[in-house]
Amino acid sequence: MPDTLCRRCGGDLDSHLLCPQCRQPMQMICTKCAKTTEVQFHSGCLYGDVLCHTVAALA
Ligand SMILES: [Zn+2]
Ligand SMILES: [Zn+2]
Repeated sequence: MPDTLCRRCGGDLDSHLLCPQCRQPMQMICTKCAKTTEVQFHSGCLYGDVLCHTVAALA
């Protein structure tokens, strides 16, 4: 469930980082204060799976 409003100032969020695999937004940025949200991976997305496995392997 992607965020729709900035948690800091309540401003509108815009797409900041798009998933290169499925073109869904992975990270949002506030149009007012430029705060970015945490990167979110998509269930069933191959790119997110690869990233998660890479992070797990490094941890
Ligand atoms: Zn994706
Ligand atoms: Zn904001």
